[in-house]
Amino acid sequence: MALADDLLTWYDTQAIALPWRMAGHERMPERAYHVWLSEIMLQQTQVETVKPYYARFLEAYPTIDDLAAAPLGDVLKLWEGLGYYSRARNLHKAAAQVIEHFGGKIPESVSELLSLSGVGRYTAGAVASIAYGMREPALDGNVIRVYSRLFDITDEVSLPATQAKFWELAETLLPEARPGDYNQALMDLGRLICKPRAPRCESCPVQKHCLAYARGVQESRPVKVKKPVTPHYQVTAGLIWNQRGELLIAQRPLKGLLGGLWEFPGGKQETGETLTDCLRRELREELNINVDVGELFTVVKHAFTHFKITLHAFTCRYHEGSGEPEAIGVKDWAWVAPGDLERYAFGKADRQVIAHLLSRDQMLF
Ligand code: SF4
Repeated sequence: MALADDLLTWYDTQAIALPWRMAGHERMPERAYHVWLSEIMLQQTQVETVKPYYARFLEAYPTIDDLAAAPLGDVLKLWEGLGYYSRARNLHKAAAQVIEHFGGKIPESVSELLSLSGVGRYTAGAVASIAYGMREPALDGNVIRVYSRLFDITDEVSLPATQAKFWELAETLLPEARPGDYNQALMDLGRLICKPRAPRCESCPVQKHCLAYARGVQESRPVKVKKPVTPHYQVTAGLIWNQRGELLIAQRPLKGLLGGLWEFPGGKQETGETLTDCLRRELREELNINVDVGELFTVVKHAFTHFKITLHAFTCRYHEGSGEPEAIGVKDWAWVAPGDLERYAFGKADRQVIAHLLSRDQMLF
């Protein structure tokens, strides 16, 4: 049997019962509203999350006229928790466009559907094929994955040229009969069987058509350029107390990362160095001080744009009588009572350390 036949045979027995799916193969164009609504809600969102929202939304706005007439604030309130709120705003706007430009009937053609706010090529194809039985492909991430495996496509998947190739392939493969069911079958296959990791090839209804499976490369498709691994640094900081119950803070050099902000002095661990040795070295290099490094006070994680850090903050005692710190690798330094830390600008990671510090009853070393 051809690929489409095998897929549709499987769909007829395995189709998932979803509230927005039509009974049998009957086409009911008036339900285009339901298909459209479900497709918008399903963008970036799991099926199970969408179900209750879909039910509540249809109860509040059973027709597109009801939606168009509703205040936007009410629509957004109903959408609360579903995320990506531009979807709700676009949906509301598109409902008015349907009333104004299409006499209240959601259009059938992809080109007209694309004129509606928030409707992209995938959604237009899904509504046209599922609600109206038009022979239009609907290509989302799931379907692209399935096709890239079935045809063992090795082009990098995010490139515009590759995307164009997939749309061309999808158009060619669409059967004349039941294009909407075919599209839904592909979506189901991607969601249930041909999963991103560990595809269930042993249960796959189109296994015999699958080139990637035959070649044993299914888990390497689609081909994606690997994102560079974000560097992750271990960083130390000292909560250095003097006998007056003050903490030593240092101001970072004006140029560079977090330039001019204040911090608990310390720095990045070097290869082969223990965290406490790292802290002692940094304090000597930046402030020319020696301290007693005590217990680990807290650990804070923070992500910058191009790297991440884990900050290990240690409680330390200053060697009284060993002279004042010197601003060698920092712009300035100061002894500050914990209650006055608020007056200085700190980065987010140090702010977390301060929050932890101020929440403690017993702060002294
Ligand atoms: Fe996906 Fe495996 Fe089926 Fe190929 S055989 S389409 S890789 S589940």
